[in-house]
Amino acid sequence: MQLRDSEADADFRARARAWLADAVPTLAPEPDPTDWPARRTRDTQWQRLLFDAGYAGINWPAEYGGRGATPTEHLIFLEEANRAGAPDVGVGFVGQMHAGPTLIAEGTPEQQDHHLRGILTGDHVWCQGFSEPEAGSDLASLRTRAVRDGDHYVISGQKIWTSHAQVADYCEMLVRTDPEAPKHKGITWLIVPMDTPGIEVRPLVTVQGSAEFAELFLDEVRVPVTNRVGAENDGWRVANVTLSFERGTGFVGEMLETTRLHGELVRIARQTPRASGTAWDDVGLRREFGALAAELDALWAFTKRNVSAGERGGIPISGGSGFKLAYGALVHRLGDLALRVLDRASLSFDDIGGLPTGAQVHGKLHGFGVSTGGGTSQIQQNILAERVLGLPREAR
Ligand SMILES: Cc1cc2nc3c(=O)[nH]c(=O)nc-3n(C[C@H](O)[C@H](O)[C@H](O)COP(=O)(O)OP(=O)(O)OC[C@H]3O[C@@H](n4cnc5c(N)ncnc54)[C@H](O)[C@@H]3O)c2cc1C
Repeated sequence: MQLRDSEADADFRARARAWLADAVPTLAPEPDPTDWPARRTRDTQWQRLLFDAGYAGINWPAEYGGRGATPTEHLIFLEEANRAGAPDVGVGFVGQMHAGPTLIAEGTPEQQDHHLRGILTGDHVWCQGFSEPEAGSDLASLRTRAVRDGDHYVISGQKIWTSHAQVADYCEMLVRTDPEAPKHKGITWLIVPMDTPGIEVRPLVTVQGSAEFAELFLDEVRVPVTNRVGAENDGWRVANVTLSFERGTGFVGEMLETTRLHGELVRIARQTPRASGTAWDDVGLRREFGALAAELDALWAFTKRNVSAGERGGIPISGGSGFKLAYGALVHRLGDLALRVLDRASLSFDDIGGLPTGAQVHGKLHGFGVSTGGGTSQIQQNILAERVLGLPREAR
């Protein structure tokens, strides 16, 4: 992959830009961030527009309904979509970024037929039921049981941090099918329809004031054996296929959004009065803005390198974990800078004085989610230390 567009890439960029310029203004205004049903409606409406225009599943193989575009084209589209102010993948995250790709890699033809199109059109929203109380970083400790009963698994247990569970149709769920086996060996990956009797969804409200995720309580939930992806007790391997998608490119859209927030913060700094002049007159502050801008550029180049390497043989561990670690740290620094610029305005979640200050406060708080979700920064450091640098493994 080149850091600059080839002639074909430039042509693809121009066509995408023209389409986005027409399509984005047709969308309904952004709903209240705490109104998840309305967000589902808007996100899936956007997904439908993408699908009808041939831009859904842009990096998915064409035989599975995707566009079959090159990784470079995928990044170009994400860049242009962000520039045009298009919605991020939103509630489509789990389906598009890892459930769909996992089904392509590991699902049966029936599972692929039933699910992939719905993910691409936006009709099917997915959530991820991996984490449990006491099984987050140490995911293989999960305890939710699934017992075989004829053609069904009967699931009982609890999940936590299940993003978008309130508006999801399906859940990619890890369950323990052999409690006697070593902890990594007795896990199975299941597709669980969220309207199955026995599932209770209890929303969890975040520090941002929105129920972005939920706890799931599972009481004898019956799921057909045909919903199993991969072999029984081989779920740990399948889960790692899923997680490789999440850590590889799952946060790219978010990173572009952070780049946009950086630009917005510069605009706010230029307009925020200080005793003399504006916040932008502070040389120290400007230097930090410059350093962060350079790091965002570097992270984008790193992303391109990861995607390029992924094209040849899957995103390397160092690429996925390195990106996640660096991006998580950067979001916190940008958030801290925002609070310094906003000063007392950072005490409010709302925009102040016609400036988009609210997004900066939300951005700062969201940083904690970025450095925790999908594997914490400490865990990424462990991965890099042990698996990439070959340092001694921690005692387990
Ligand atoms: C915004 C957000 C969305 C999420 N969405 C989902 C979702 O949709 N589905 C889902 O299944 N899960 C989801 N999660 C859960 C997420 O994957 C877990 O929060 C994460 O894996 C950490 O697990 P934990 O919260 O149990 O923390 P713990 O594992 O209890 O860790 C607590 C602290 O100890 C540190 N720590 C733990 N073990 C080690 C170690 N060996 N070495 C060094 N430090 C260590 C951790 O880094 C962390 O700082 C989400 C989380 C967030 C924040």
